[in-house]
Amino acid sequence: MDSNTIKKLDKENIAHTYGRFDMVADHGKGAVCVDADGKEYIDFTSGIGVNSLGFCNDAWVKAVTEQASKLQHVSNLYYTGPGAELAGKLCSRTGMSKVFFCNSGAEANECAIKTARKYGNESSSGHKHKIITMKESFHGRTLATVTATGQDNFHKLFDPFLAGFDYCSANDTEELKQKVDDETCAVMMEMIQGEGGLNVLSSEFVQAAAEICRDRDVLFIIDEVQTGVGRTGKFFSYEHFGVHPDIVTFAKGIGGGLPIGGVLFDKKTSEVLQPGDHGSTYGANPVACAGALEVMKQMDQELLDDIAAKGSYIVSELKAIDKVEEVTGMGMMLGFRASGIEAKDIVAACLEKGLMTLTAKDKVRMLPPLTITKEEIDRGLEIIRTVLA
Ligand SMILES: *Cc1c(COP(=O)(O)O)cnc(C)c1O
Repeated sequence: MDSNTIKKLDKENIAHTYGRFDMVADHGKGAVCVDADGKEYIDFTSGIGVNSLGFCNDAWVKAVTEQASKLQHVSNLYYTGPGAELAGKLCSRTGMSKVFFCNSGAEANECAIKTARKYGNESSSGHKHKIITMKESFHGRTLATVTATGQDNFHKLFDPFLAGFDYCSANDTEELKQKVDDETCAVMMEMIQGEGGLNVLSSEFVQAAAEICRDRDVLFIIDEVQTGVGRTGKFFSYEHFGVHPDIVTFAKGIGGGLPIGGVLFDKKTSEVLQPGDHGSTYGANPVACAGALEVMKQMDQELLDDIAAKGSYIVSELKAIDKVEEVTGMGMMLGFRASGIEAKDIVAACLEKGLMTLTAKDKVRMLPPLTITKEEIDRGLEIIRTVLA
C-alpha cells in the first residue's frame, strides 16, 4: 500500500481522537525510520520514549521472536519464566520489594492510586484517601489518571472526575506542607514533567516532599513512565534526586517497543494489594517481558554514562544556536524553545527535512533512542540548525 492509500484508510476508519504528523512509517533500524515512500528520517522520538534500543535492535528482535514462537501468552493466572526473571532483575536493580506488571503507563499509575487508597483507608478507618499531584503533571488518560494529571485543560468533558485529588505547584514546599493533611494518603510526581514541558523539579523540593511523606505516613509515589529505564542517564531518574520512593511506576522505555508497564513496591507497600484486589489479563505477558529483559541486559553502566554524555552534547550544540532561548531536561529527555518560531512549526519543518521530533507545551521535545550514534545525533542537529536558520 502506498502512503496516500494508508492515510485515506486511516482517516476513514480510525477514530480521530488525536492529531497525526504527516508521515507513514514503514520500517526502521536504530535511529533511522523509513516512510512508505522510501524517505529516511533521523528519529529523535523513539516512539515517545518507548524504543529504548532504537528500531529493530537485533538482540531485542531475537528475544521477542524466540519467545513468540515458544509461548506468547497464558494470562497472569499461571507462572512463566520471562515475567519472573524480569521481576527479579527489576527488584534487585532498584532495591524495591515487589513488582506488579500491566500494559501501559496509565494502568501502572491506576494501580499505584488504588494501592495508595487501600493503604490510606486501612490505616485510618476509611478517611485517608486524598492524593496530591503536581500542577503541569501528566499521569495518563484513564479517568483516575486524567484526574491525577494536574492540568486544567484535561479536566473538561468527562465530568464527574474522581473525588479526592488535589494539586500543588511543583517546587513549592510550603504549599505542599499546607496541602498534606490527615486525609492525604499519597503524593505523586514526575521528577521531570515530560508532557508538561520538560520541567526538572528541584532536588530540595523532591527531598522535602519525601520527608513530609515520611513524617506524615503518606506514600511517596514517583511516576517514572517517561523518565525511567535509562532515559536520564540513571536507571530511574529519582536516583539523581537522592530519594527513595514507596512506589515507582514505569512503562514506555522498559519494553523497547512492546506494551508493558509496571509498579514497583517498597517494603511498606508490597503487601497492600492482596490476591483478588487487582489484576490484568495481559500482565507479565511473556513476549513483552522477553523484550524488556533484553532492554535490561543492554542497560549497563556504560550505556547509562553514554546517555548522559550524548545528552550533554545535544544540550551544548543546541545552546550554540542563536535562536535557541532555553534548553531543559536531563540525559536524553530534552526540550528547547526558539525565538520567533513556534514549537509545532519547528517540528513540522524538521519532519519535512527528515527529522522526527515531538512537542511538549511550547517546547520542541526530543527523546532519541538511547542507543543513537553520535553520527545520527549530528545529522539530526544539522536539520535543526537548518530549520532555525
Ligand atoms: C506517557 C505517560 C503516562 C501514560 O502512559 P500510557 O502508556 O500512555 O498510558 C503516564 N505518565 C507519564 C509521566 C507519561 O509520560
